[in-house]
Parts: sequence; structure tokens; C-alpha cells
Amino acid sequence: MSPRPSPVAPGSPALRWSALRSGLAALCAVTVMASVAARADGVEPLPTTEVAPGVFVYQAPYALLSAANQGAIANVGFIVGRDSVAVIDTGNTRQAGERLLAAVRARTKLPIAYVINTHMHPDHALGDVAFKADGTKFVAHAKFARALLARAQSYLDAAKRQTDGAADLRLEDIVTPDIEVADRLELDLGDRKLQLQAEPTAHTDNDLTILDARTDTWFLGDLLFVGHLPSVDGSLEGWVKVMRRTAERKVARVVPGHGPASVDWPGALAPQQRYFDRLRSDVEAMIEKAATLREASESAGLSERDGWALFDEFNARNAIEAYREAEWR
Ligand SMILES: [Zn+2]
Repeated sequence: MSPRPSPVAPGSPALRWSALRSGLAALCAVTVMASVAARADGVEPLPTTEVAPGVFVYQAPYALLSAANQGAIANVGFIVGRDSVAVIDTGNTRQAGERLLAAVRARTKLPIAYVINTHMHPDHALGDVAFKADGTKFVAHAKFARALLARAQSYLDAAKRQTDGAADLRLEDIVTPDIEVADRLELDLGDRKLQLQAEPTAHTDNDLTILDARTDTWFLGDLLFVGHLPSVDGSLEGWVKVMRRTAERKVARVVPGHGPASVDWPGALAPQQRYFDRLRSDVEAMIEKAATLREASESAGLSERDGWALFDEFNARNAIEAYREAEWR
């Protein structure tokens, strides 16, 4: 609020000051408009860490989607080659995707040749829409599209609800892959090869890993959770088998879907393995005693509670999955 102007005589010092002040006000208005325009065009880039030369990762907080975080709740990243860039996962909203795009553009002007999704969960894939551009190919597991489309509307509704309407995407904003990986695929960013591997059902039925051969950096997506409780949406038994095999591969570092930007391998797997072992043995003991599914959902795995963020959000569902799979055995 500014005070109301008082009447003044023409040519008086007060008028000159008044003219100067209105000139200043106009200048300020121009400055404010310019900064608004800069914010509109120049989205705030996600902060990234260069975990290995040319490999950048945004380390997400342990959080569910909210208006405050705008969907930047999964680790995402990008790899810069001689000729082009590959983006790996994109966040839960267009806004999160735009912030990742701004992070890429803050590092390089090279074209984004590929956007690779590690799986179809919304916190990893809904931001793809921000990367739609001529020449950019979307790459995912062969089962990605079917799995994503089956849940797309509920993902969009949840995103909108959880961000108080800010994440306002429509079905036509869902991006399905141009290139599907059924087994293995090698991509070349120019003197920089990426090795993609489609995994059997584990965290989901469409998990894909990406190895940057130059730096021996392996993006595991949600096959690896560190700190944030894992969530089983595929097969617990399948996941344990995939982990057993991947743990034998020696690499310099891995990037988990949730957790620090990069961790050592296979050392970083131990807590997740311990949690799965606990969940399976609790459920088996409960089935021996003829406990119900509901009882299992309430108590299996509880001794692990203090070691994980978001335990209460995901453990019951994991216990139900473990119970169902143990019943089949
Ligand atoms: Zn996931």
C-alpha cells in the first residue's frame, strides 16, 4: 500500500519528486514483469549431482506426492554423450519433468535423443510429457505401455488430487514408448554406450535397468530402494531372484530409484534384502499358524519399522503381496 498523493503546484519540488517516483514505479513494474517472464520461461532446474563424469542425478526426498514437492519424488537423471543426451525417468508431474529438462539445459545444449523409463510408476513416468519433442525417442520395457495404460486414469486423478489441482494432466499426455525393450538393447549417445536390460517381474512387470558402460554406473530404478521402504507391485519372489542375480554383477556404483544419488554395489542392497527376508519369514510363520491375510497385513515385517522412511505407507501392501505369494508355494 502507498499513501494517497496530495495536490501540489506545477513545477514544485514535490511534483518533480512525484514524476520521478512514478517513473521509478514504472521502471519497477517493468522489472517485475521481466522477472515474472523469466520465471515463466526459466523453470527452476532440479538440483543434480554429477555422480560420475557426464552422469547427473537428482536425489529425491523420501515423500509422497504433494503440492509442495510437485512430483519430484523419485531419483531421476541424465547422461551426456558426445552427440546427445539420455534422460532416465522424469518425475510424477509435468512440472517435475520441466524442472529436469531445465537441469539438462543448464548443463548442455546437446539434443535429448532418448527418454528412458525404468518402469511405469507415476513418480518415474508422468513427467515424460515435458520431453515430447522432435527427435526424442521414448524407451521402456516391452510391458511398460500396457501396464501404464491400465492405470493411467487413476494415476492422473491421484496426481491432481495430491497436488491440489496443480498436476492437471490428461490421458493424451501419457507417453508410450517409441522403442520397446523385450530383452536387451544398446543405445549410443556418441562415444558413449548405454546397455538396457529388461528384467522379469520384480518391483513391477516392466522393470528396465540402464548401464552407462563408460563409467560403470548402473541405474536400477525401483529394483533398489535405500532408506525409503520398497513397494512390491510385481512379485516379491521374482524381485528376490532378480536381486540375487544382479548382486553378482560388479559395477562402480548404482543409482537407486529412491535413496542417495549413488551408492556402492552390492553393499547398498543389504537392508532391502534383510527387509524382504523378514517379510517372507514372518508371513510363512503366520501361514503355519493359520493367520488371516488381514493379520499378516497388520504385523508381518513390523520389526523393520524403524529402519525405513514411509514404512506405514507401504508395508501392509507388501505383506499382503508376500502372503498371497507364500500361499501359492
Ligand atoms: Zn516404482
